[in-house]
Amino acid sequence: MDNSLLTGLSDLHLHLDGSLDVNMVRRLADIGDISLDLSDSEIKNRLSVREGCRNLNEYLEKFDFPCSLLQTEDQISESVYLLKEKLKASGLSYAEIRFAPQKHMDKGISMEGVIEAAIDGNKRSSFPSKLILCMMRGNDNHEANLQTVRLTKKYLGNDVCAIDLAGAEALFPTEDFEDCFLLARSLDVPFTIHAGEASGAFSIWKAIEFGAKRIGHGVRAYEDEKLLEYLSKHRIPLELCPTSNLNTCVFDDISAYPIRTFLKYDIPVTINTDNMSVSDTDIEKEYRLLIDAFNLSNDEIETIKNNSINAAFS
Ligand SMILES: [Zn+2]
Repeated sequence: MDNSLLTGLSDLHLHLDGSLDVNMVRRLADIGDISLDLSDSEIKNRLSVREGCRNLNEYLEKFDFPCSLLQTEDQISESVYLLKEKLKASGLSYAEIRFAPQKHMDKGISMEGVIEAAIDGNKRSSFPSKLILCMMRGNDNHEANLQTVRLTKKYLGNDVCAIDLAGAEALFPTEDFEDCFLLARSLDVPFTIHAGEASGAFSIWKAIEFGAKRIGHGVRAYEDEKLLEYLSKHRIPLELCPTSNLNTCVFDDISAYPIRTFLKYDIPVTINTDNMSVSDTDIEKEYRLLIDAFNLSNDEIETIKNNSINAAFS
């Protein structure tokens, strides 16, 4: 494979809290005056899943520690800035960084304050990126989700490009969030939805019905031929995150990954990291994982890269 094929990549599905590395953790602890009596390897263990697959709920437990370090304006701004500098150094061309404002209010910052801090961090680095604001699956945060939609509208175009719905898909099904997406549509706020990861094709159908412009993961679309045809015909991109899907045991082995099926149906698939630290990965590793397992041709790699450029919300 021509190595230049792995330049100019985009990452459209990248969580801020799941992508803090050891250096970022130490810096954020300093800013927050938090003493961390942990070695580098202990910090890494706290940030990353261990070998062997876990379900999505266990995977999501890895976010508690980094989130505890993202509770002041300075920490939030700095984390976005540091992540962007890291992405720039890695050779990435563009990223959409996502986070859930409601998870960063433990110390009393308003949701506006959280978003404005992230925008500040986004503007401090020249690396080209936009912010996606996540709602969270749950049963006691309905107002916070609606507020996320309203504030996305307020900041749309000011470094904020879309909303998302993240969290435990199997516990809190997509259909429970209809009114949030009705509001988003009435406000003309574009959105992606995590769907077809812990739950099956029906969750993706629901996301499409609600009006999602892209599907976060969407990997279980392979279970439903009609859905594959629909995604292709209507050019709905999938935000694939292969290592994350192995971590959460959607597949036991990369050989089972349905990339060939998606390419056969001409679905606009994109390749992304999801959580660089939780999954211990980067964008090049994700591409290489699929290239090596499926012997993807140069043309196929170019197609996937272009899909990402075309699917960007910016
Ligand atoms: Zn995700």
